[in-house]
Amino acid sequence: MGSAYTTIVCDVIARYKRMCGYDVAYVTGTDEHGVNIERAAEKQGISPAELVERNQKIFLDLWKLLGIQYTHFIRTTETRHARAVQNLVRRTLRRSPEAIYKSKYEGRYCIYDNLYVGDTPEPADCPTCGRPAELVSEENYFFRLSAYQGKLLDLYAKNPQFVVPDFRFNEVKSFVESGLRDLSISRKSIKWGIPWPDDPEHVFYVWYDALTAYITAIGFVDGQHDGPDFRCWPADIHAMGKEIIRFHAVYWPAFLMAAGVELPKQIVAHGWLLFEQEKMSKSKGNVAYAEPIVKVLGNDALRYYLLRETVFGHDGNFSRDALITRYNADLANGLGNLASRVVTMIRDYCGGVVPDAHTPHPQTVHGNHADLIAQFSFGHLSEIRGFYDRFEYANVTERIWNLIGAVDKYLVLEKPWALATSPAQRESLERVLYDAADSLRVIAALSHPVIPDATHRIWEQLGQAGKLADVRIDQLQRGGLEPGTRIRRPEGVFPRVDKAEASERIEAMEQEIRNPAAAAAASAGQAAGGSGAGAGAAPAPGAKITIEDFAKIELRAGVVKSAERIQGADKLLKVMVDIGDEVRQVLAGIAPSYAPEELVGRKVVVVTNLAPRKMRGLESNGMLLAGSAGPDGKAVLCTFTEDIAPGSKVK
Ligand SMILES: [Zn+2]
Repeated sequence: MGSAYTTIVCDVIARYKRMCGYDVAYVTGTDEHGVNIERAAEKQGISPAELVERNQKIFLDLWKLLGIQYTHFIRTTETRHARAVQNLVRRTLRRSPEAIYKSKYEGRYCIYDNLYVGDTPEPADCPTCGRPAELVSEENYFFRLSAYQGKLLDLYAKNPQFVVPDFRFNEVKSFVESGLRDLSISRKSIKWGIPWPDDPEHVFYVWYDALTAYITAIGFVDGQHDGPDFRCWPADIHAMGKEIIRFHAVYWPAFLMAAGVELPKQIVAHGWLLFEQEKMSKSKGNVAYAEPIVKVLGNDALRYYLLRETVFGHDGNFSRDALITRYNADLANGLGNLASRVVTMIRDYCGGVVPDAHTPHPQTVHGNHADLIAQFSFGHLSEIRGFYDRFEYANVTERIWNLIGAVDKYLVLEKPWALATSPAQRESLERVLYDAADSLRVIAALSHPVIPDATHRIWEQLGQAGKLADVRIDQLQRGGLEPGTRIRRPEGVFPRVDKAEASERIEAMEQEIRNPAAAAAASAGQAAGGSGAGAGAAPAPGAKITIEDFAKIELRAGVVKSAERIQGADKLLKVMVDIGDEVRQVLAGIAPSYAPEELVGRKVVVVTNLAPRKMRGLESNGMLLAGSAGPDGKAVLCTFTEDIAPGSKVK
């Protein structure tokens, strides 16, 4: 979710800038070198190349799912990138030969965060992840960062917006003011990296390599024979999570200064998404995943929620409950409902054609109409653009949703459904519906960078030709809807969801992602969750688990004491199972296959260490193993033919 957040924000920036008439290069990619990749691959028994191939596919699929419109994707294992990194260092050695030197390095390094934790051999914990950092001792190439303190402080002084938000800029400045230590930029102990030019025993430190990807992607070769897209450099914005701001705002500008390459204009750092007040981290296992949310609620729902609920720059709290509440309140009942009402009324009352505006003379504009016009004034619309420009997305979305509220209120006060009953009120009816539809057009354009899919569908329903993305947001104003335009069939863009059911479906998919092996072993049990199941529980082909992984699943023999149906859930049975030292309540999705009375006395296999889950207000504390038979996936319970005492371990 962390990477998804960064990438969604960049996509909003890119789409917004394009709608302001800019030609935007949007670079993203995967950082594929480093000792943590090397070790992760070793642990999985595959080569680093195979691992990064697998990882980058996951990202490419995710960006597609999230509707990310990047223009350049760079993998740091590409040949062109190795050339660019080597050329950047050669260029540095030519222009600033004193900037790089060879020396012995001894210190502590966090392999998970690629971070030098301490420059002495003393044991130290990583400030980012808290794990003990590893001892590194070897001869390295160093970058003379200490010589760039004054130049960096100069840069900051001349560019008061170089880092946003402000409070992060202050952290960066105090870090630099407190003095900079030279930085090791090569590694001898690992193989998985870009070789140092003319000294291939060394590979580049992963950050020197990764940062350079920004310029490789748009055609940096050596500053002399750069590709045509390199005209887009320097970047207007680099955006990232706050934990890597130092690399972007201190090291990277220093590397570029030494090489004589122009610097990026602005570094924008967002906060962390907290989950239960802790930073989400794959290694801690407290990660929310984007994919299940998109599959259940759609791409726009996640984008909207992340931008609306987080004050950009600060840490935000991720909550599935708040996400679904926002979805129903703001998207389904808010924008979705307004759009379908307006389009439906034009179909029913105006023969499916945008009516005449009957624009009144400014001096005769009456109350409700005047109020609506005031909401869509030039001042208000440019204020929203100002929020976009300053990355204040909570304000962007709040203001746009105020506009939706204003149109809703206008309709409630003007009651077009009542006006439609009287031919004498025809002109008023047409004016009201024109205003509502034209306002909807403006709202769709304003919110397009945030929720691209739904707004485009609204755009089409309003009968608009061309792409919504081609509309100039900086030239947007009321009255642009052409009377006589034929609208299309109304179609809901955000169907309401049942909160409990949506939450269960998301959770079930998340559990499969977190623990694909357990999910596959217990796939019938997933169905038992009554939880949508069948969401692709199979592990990636070729993925093997170790015996230790398997041993994490605690399986025991059980005997069913009682079973009953659950009201309102036609697939679920509430089963009480004796597992030796206790009787567990397990909810199993086997009602289509078994009558409750058939089950009593039956020997079953129970997953006993599954985290408890609530379904239909009841707790399920475990899972019954079952086979999934035939095309309908009929559940067939696993059992024992010989005697076995309840509670016996199954392995
Ligand atoms: Zn760490």
